[in-house]
Amino acid sequence: MEDTADVIVVGGGPAGVAAAIELRRCGVKRVMLIEREARLGGATRYCGHSPFGMREFGRVYSGPAYARRLEEEAERHGVMVRRGHSVVSLHDEACLTVAHDGKVSQLEAKRIIVATGARESSRAARLLPGDRPVGILSTGALQAYVVLHGWMPFRHPVVLGSELVTFSAVLTCLRHKARPMAVVEALPYALARAPVSWFPYLAGVPFFRGAEVLDIRGGARVEGVRISYGSEIRDIACDGVLMTGRFVPEASLFQSSGMGVAGGAQAPAIDQDGRCENLHYFACGNVLRAVETGGWAFREGRSIGASVARDLMRPRAMRWDDVPRVAVTFARPIKLVVPGYVRIDDEAPGALREFQLRFTARVRGELSLELDGARVWRRRGEFLPERRVLVPMPAALHAARRINFSFSEG
Ligand SMILES: Cc1cc2nc3c(=O)[nH]c(=O)nc-3n(C[C@H](O)[C@H](O)[C@H](O)COP(=O)(O)OP(=O)(O)OC[C@H]3O[C@@H](n4cnc5c(N)ncnc54)[C@H](O)[C@@H]3O)c2cc1C
Repeated sequence: MEDTADVIVVGGGPAGVAAAIELRRCGVKRVMLIEREARLGGATRYCGHSPFGMREFGRVYSGPAYARRLEEEAERHGVMVRRGHSVVSLHDEACLTVAHDGKVSQLEAKRIIVATGARESSRAARLLPGDRPVGILSTGALQAYVVLHGWMPFRHPVVLGSELVTFSAVLTCLRHKARPMAVVEALPYALARAPVSWFPYLAGVPFFRGAEVLDIRGGARVEGVRISYGSEIRDIACDGVLMTGRFVPEASLFQSSGMGVAGGAQAPAIDQDGRCENLHYFACGNVLRAVETGGWAFREGRSIGASVARDLMRPRAMRWDDVPRVAVTFARPIKLVVPGYVRIDDEAPGALREFQLRFTARVRGELSLELDGARVWRRRGEFLPERRVLVPMPAALHAARRINFSFSEG
């Protein structure tokens, strides 16, 4: 088996597969895709529902069918796919340590793209109080049980959250003969947009917003959840707790390899071409910001794959270290901005043409983009957490020495 490639892509979800395919389409000869699981497709493999694939393949797939199409496309484009390989560390000079079949080896490339996706927050990260019985799991784990093994781990769970994935989880339960006892959200509003957020009501499942989990009770299994709801304390009998959403980037490789992650996003900071601080590395998909749709991850992977192909063709004399870069600054309530910095380059426009922002809380006011102190863009309105805000990159960006997002409430 080869241990070198022109480009190695880590992660075989929509972003990684799209990046690998695009590199091949741009003429890069040896593109290796490394996936720790037995199949490609990433999180989509477990989403038993549609819609996936409309914009990239012109038809609607369920998650598992979309994952199979990704696998076929990677093979058809001549990507060297390594399944069952886990990357365990990244090294400075585009070199990886990989564990496979009980052995550890090193792989080298000219460039490496990291597309390791995102994961839902654990119980510990959510600070959920109470006992530690069996039956508390994430949507990802639930969908893996149901889709891969045909097994529903509970019949009457309480579902925590109100993101898009929450309603996907409720749907999965109902389709597999489990009836949620309640959906519980700590915020006073749903994070997903209407009409998706109406789904519990339509399905006859009580939806408590502004409710806190006070206790999870159970011995061998979950037996109940206590919540505070307004001035009331309610005990809800259930046999499981489904923790949905609150995605965080799967950026452990950057952290454990000493490459660091940016605050706010908790993800590797990239420039407008997807390039990380270490110039051998690029990143795309949900590892940049949790969490986007499958189609978004695919399109971003494709753009950044093309940018890596361009990078390989740059004249040797042109070194990115010599190109100044400007950090994009912002303060709360803005949670994150992707890309986190801009390289001042007169060449072709970058792979990303828009800044993507997220907020930490529901706020109303004016969001502005300032270049060298002058306001060049603004939008007034209400902004909600976990909702994508897109700001087009102005042409003048490439000459700016200060790039700042600010927000004034009111
Ligand atoms: C429950 C659920 C429902 C969803 N429903 C929808 C929907 O209806 N429509 C929609 O558009 N999107 C939906 N999504 C979102 C969509 O699945 C994701 O946006 C998309 O899969 C992200 O692609 P990605 O390539 O960035 O990451 P992922 O799909 O997460 O892929 C990352 C890949 O990297 C691999 N990996 C991670 N670390 C390593 C390592 N160290 N070594 C090797 N491989 C590694 C993982 O095994 C994984 O295969 C849903 C997501 C979830 C979880």
